[in-house]
Amino acid sequence: MQPLLNVDTALADILADMKTLPAEAVSLPEAHNRVIAEDIVSPIDLPPFDNSAMDGYAVLFEDSVGASPSNPVSLSVSMDIMAGSAPDGQLQTGQAARIMTGAPIPAGATAVIPVEDSDDDWSKGEDSPLPAEVRLYRSLAPGENIRSAGENVAAGATVMAAGAIIGPAEIGMLAGIGCPRVDVIRRPKVAILSSGDELVDIYDELTPGKIRDTNGYTLASLIRGAGGIPIRLPIAKDTLDSIRALYRRALEINPDLLISTAGVSVGAADLVKTVMNELGDIDFWRINMRPGKPLAYGTISGLPFFGLPGNPVSTMVTFEVLVKPALAKIAGRPFKRETVKATTAGPLRSDGRRSYNRVTLSQENGPIMAQTTGIQSSGALMSMVKADGLAIIPEGMTEVPTGSELNVILLRRPDW
Ligand code: AMP
Ligand code: MG
Repeated sequence: MQPLLNVDTALADILADMKTLPAEAVSLPEAHNRVIAEDIVSPIDLPPFDNSAMDGYAVLFEDSVGASPSNPVSLSVSMDIMAGSAPDGQLQTGQAARIMTGAPIPAGATAVIPVEDSDDDWSKGEDSPLPAEVRLYRSLAPGENIRSAGENVAAGATVMAAGAIIGPAEIGMLAGIGCPRVDVIRRPKVAILSSGDELVDIYDELTPGKIRDTNGYTLASLIRGAGGIPIRLPIAKDTLDSIRALYRRALEINPDLLISTAGVSVGAADLVKTVMNELGDIDFWRINMRPGKPLAYGTISGLPFFGLPGNPVSTMVTFEVLVKPALAKIAGRPFKRETVKATTAGPLRSDGRRSYNRVTLSQENGPIMAQTTGIQSSGALMSMVKADGLAIIPEGMTEVPTGSELNVILLRRPDW
């Protein structure tokens, strides 16, 4: 019997094989949540010109020195500058320019006084008549309320680095620097193959002896969550011809990764293994984990391939532990597993393999508590539906007493 392979060793071997996909250009709105493929350098200053941070009056700051409510400084209003306009002419000593937030600072001006600190009344908004004079009620520091050109981003500065995920702020920045198309890492296309004579699809009638294919759907959802594009193939029957035909179809869609479920366990019909060996270079691993011991891994026509165990929880847990980090690397996504430390609310059991027990998490003024979701059978999908996380029982441990501290992989954010 092949020795059991350590989970971390298996993952390290897998990651060493994975290659990040090349870039493709997409339009800016489509770049949401994609991975940027190259450093982005701003061709322009942001803001592109000195502009006002306030609605008020642009002045020469020296003119405001000593101004107070009891001793205001009076300036003649020589310009009216709206946002979007381009003022010409120079502001002279003794003059003020009415200016709106975001409007360009006129040449000569060195500060902006907010309208509230003047005698002007803008109760009519932008339709308020332009006064001949304005009184300043306080003095200003040089540059006050001026957003200077390039203070946010200087032309030539790197605004985001290759590998960053494009979120709303990044989209705004790319728009700000005038980037209608963005080079992002191509999303991995993942072919999903389910096999088994007992499987029917969700639209089919559940006749005696049959169950619905759940793995095809959980995998598609997991792949989408990891930034991939899932493509579910029809269910293969337990015949060599059917399995071969489905693998060929899978290759025709030109995927970046192939994932099959079922047919890799000792008791399973060996048909899947036969076809895998015909088409590719596959190792049949026995991994020291529970659930999910049997796993086929290698390449088919040069493409990375995972043959996951068929039991629904095993499929999901092996995906979480081994496939998700691999897919992240293919997709160029930074991968950091979210874990918390939690205290067991009751005793847990294992068989000495590294166990991933499905738990709910709660916290009330104390440590985070982990409670088993009940039946931990690898076929019991309900244990995953209920679970907030996977509590990891280290290898070699069979009894976990109440009150033990375990690392828990977060599957979702608990709502405490
Ligand atoms: P096998 O690896 O073929 O021995 O399958 C192991 C267990 O997983 C059996 O109980 C199968 O019925 C079940 N199973 C296999 N494939 C799927 C699937 N796509 N969806 C749900 N259960 C499955
Ligand atoms: Mg089967």
